[in-house]
Parts: sequence; structure tokens; C-alpha cells
Amino acid sequence: MLTTTDLRGSDTDPRTVLPRAAVDVGAAAQRIQPILDDVRDRGLPAVLAATQRFDGVELSDVRVPREHLRTALEGLDPAVRAALETTIQRARAVHADQRRQDVTTRLAPGGTVTERWVPVERVGLYVPGGLAVYPSSVVMNVVPAQEAGVASLAIASPPQRDHGGRVHPAILAACELLGVDEVYSVGGAQAVAMFAYGIENVRAVDMVTGPGNIYVTAAKRQLRGLVGIDSEAGPTEIAILADRTADPLHVAADLISQAEHDPAAASVLVTDSEELLAEVQRTLPKLVGATKHTERVTEALSGPQSGAILVDDVEHGLRVVNAYAAEHLEIQTADAREMALRVRSAGAIFVGPYAPVSLGDYCAGSNHVLPTGGCARHSSGLSVQTFLRGVHIIEYDKPALAEVAGHVVALANAEDLPAHGEAVQVRFR
Ligand code: NAD
Repeated sequence: MLTTTDLRGSDTDPRTVLPRAAVDVGAAAQRIQPILDDVRDRGLPAVLAATQRFDGVELSDVRVPREHLRTALEGLDPAVRAALETTIQRARAVHADQRRQDVTTRLAPGGTVTERWVPVERVGLYVPGGLAVYPSSVVMNVVPAQEAGVASLAIASPPQRDHGGRVHPAILAACELLGVDEVYSVGGAQAVAMFAYGIENVRAVDMVTGPGNIYVTAAKRQLRGLVGIDSEAGPTEIAILADRTADPLHVAADLISQAEHDPAAASVLVTDSEELLAEVQRTLPKLVGATKHTERVTEALSGPQSGAILVDDVEHGLRVVNAYAAEHLEIQTADAREMALRVRSAGAIFVGPYAPVSLGDYCAGSNHVLPTGGCARHSSGLSVQTFLRGVHIIEYDKPALAEVAGHVVALANAEDLPAHGEAVQVRFR
């Protein structure tokens, strides 16, 4: 099912042959720009029009009433509630450990610089709900924001046609469990625009975070600057670096588990073992035929963004996965732990046979909002740090300033900005 690229015996730069999506975020950005402009210009009517067009739901308002959250939690399946509570508790444990302490550096007897960590004031959190619904993404967005101390949280998620145009009840229940009561039934690019520009009764935010499909991701890219964003956390990707010690059934099941998210999802196997590859290729059709979302999975696995890459050895494989910079990287090799320490670019790394990506999607404690499309080369997954700004506080007394006054003047003159030097010298006349 996976198209194979054979890199054995070749010194081809892996970046030139890696599987990548046919429609990239840049192309999607052009398509959704009119939606962003319309929301900026017309506000709520534009949001409602886009909702009718892309979600097939006619609404007169987008705010979810408070009582819908309570009812959703009351009606939640107890097994799902227990699972969400464990997910919240584990995520909270990990994210609480990410809190930053302010740091003061003393540079001279009266001269200090303090780095103070200040939470973003107001954030809009996106929770996907197109092909699948993601109460887990409520947890992954809200917990780090709360642990960072963000004062104002709002959530947007697409209205569901088969739930009377409401946000999915499991998502509402997760919001209630976490104590977030500002929820909007809006999805896609229009949700990101609503948060960034603000509309009637929805105050603009300072930052938009959360995962989504390519249209959500494109909207975040286009509005970055007006608002802060986390990473571009678009259609899911899994890369698996495996050698002959890997279990082909585990490998096939994990490739399918991520392909299930979206026909645009990417599943990539990198291996030095022809035997493993052949066994995975034999196993995939059987599992795909038996899974619920056969069509979506087939489309994802056979798309240009998915494939298998044969490499000379695990070292060669490591170079390939570093170049790919997957959102999720599984390492299923004899020395998985050591290999994991040598990975330079990945959103999250899953080590060995008992840490599948599905664990990280829900209950590992790690965050599942992770950079895609190669952005793991420069970006991180969602964390407490995402919601903090480091502000430097500079305090120098007269002797401490005197110690470096000559250097300030010298550099100011070198940059032909003598008024800078004068602003220091005037204090000593
Ligand atoms: P979604 O909420 O992201 O997108 C649904 C919205 O897309 C709809 O509300 C609609 O308004 C809009 N839309 C649909 N078709 C459109 C079109 N042709 N033009 C403009 N807008 C359109 O839900 P989804 O579609 O199920 O996608 C969820 C995505 O989130 C998946 O791709 C999944 O892989 C990804 N995901 C990523 C991460 C991550 O951290 N990278 C985590 C979880 C999920």
C-alpha cells in the first residue's frame, strides 16, 4: 500500500525525495484568504455565512449557552469521563513541571537583569471537529494555558450537523470538566479569524493555539503577527524508524492509527529491513480492510505524503528522519533509547514497542498539539512556555551605569547614533 523509495547505496539528499502533501499550507492559505477578509470586514454575518457553507449548519449566534456545558457533562459516558480525568491529571502533572521561574542575573554591584515570565492575557483555543471530534484537544490546549496562568480562555470548535448544529457534547463536557465556559460553535478558518479580529460579542484574543486541518493551519499562518500562534499543527504525521527487530503488526497498526485522522495525514516508514517492509506491506491491507475508516485510511496511505523509505542502515535512517522532522516519530529499533537521544528534529519521539503514538494522543501526559509539515525543524509542541512571554527588567544604579558608560558611547558612535551616547553622558555632567 505504501509507495517505496529505495535510498540504499545513494547519497541523495533525503529532503529532495521525502513524501510531502500535494496541497501545502501556502496553497490552502490562498483559498481561505477571502474568508479571513470577510470576517474582518463584516464580523458575525461573515462567520455565520462560512459556517453555513463549510459546516452545513445555519446558526443565528455562535456562543454556546452555559447550561449546554453542564448538560453535556451530565450525559457523558462514565468510561469517557474517567479517561478524560486521567488524561487531564497526567497532562497537568507534566505541564505543571514546565512552569518557569523568574531569573535575576547580577552583572555588577548595582546592576541586574531579571527575566520575568508573564502569561499571555487572552487566548483562543481551537478544538478540531470535522472528520473526527477531539475532546482530547480541549485538554491539550487548556491544561498548559491554565498552568501558565492565562487569565482569559475561549474555545472554538465546529458545530456538528448531526448534533443539531451544536458543538459535539464530548467537547463541551471536556470544557466543563476543565472549568472553561466561553465556548463558540465555529470551526475552520472563520474560527481563527473570529478570534484574531474579534467580532460582535467575541473579544479579540492575543494568541490562537490548537491543531486543525489544512484550512485552520493556513488561517493561523496568515494571521500570525496580528495574534501569536503556537506551531503550525496541521494534518497529522507519523514517521516510524524501524529495523528488523520491530514487530510488523505494531508498525502497520501505528501507521493506520494516524492515517485515520485525515485523508491528508502522512504515514511514513523508514527501515533498513526489506523483510520488515515486505511484512508491513502484507499486513496493511488486512488491517485497513477491517478498520472503521477504511476509505480515509486508504486515501492517506496511498497519497504522495505517505510512503516507505529503504535505507542502508539505522544511521542512514536517522539522517532521513531528521530531515523529515515528523510531528510524531516512533523509534522501533534494537537500540531505540539511544537513537531517540540522537534525533534532532521531531515534534515528539515515541521510544520502543510500548509507546505508540495513540498513547501520546491521549494519556501519556505529553502534549499532542505538535508541529507538522517540517515545522519541527524550528518549532515545538504546545507547552506552558507557548503561553509565556519573557520580559527583561533592567535595573542599574549610577555606579553600575558608570562602569559601562564608555562602552555605550563607543558603540553608539560606531553605529552613528551619537544621541544614544549623549543620553548616558548627560547623567554624569
Ligand atoms: P477541523 O476542525 O480542523 O476542520 C473542520 C473545519 O474545516 C470545518 O469546520 C470547516 O469550516 C472547515 N473546512 C472544511 N472544508 C473546507 C474547505 N473546503 N474550505 C475551507 N474550510 C473548510 O477538523 P478536521 O477536518 O477533522 O481536521 C482535524 C485535523 O487536525 C486533522 O487533519 C488532524 O490530523 C489534525 N490534528 C493535528 C494535530 C497536531 O497537533 N498536528 C493534533 C490533532 C489533530
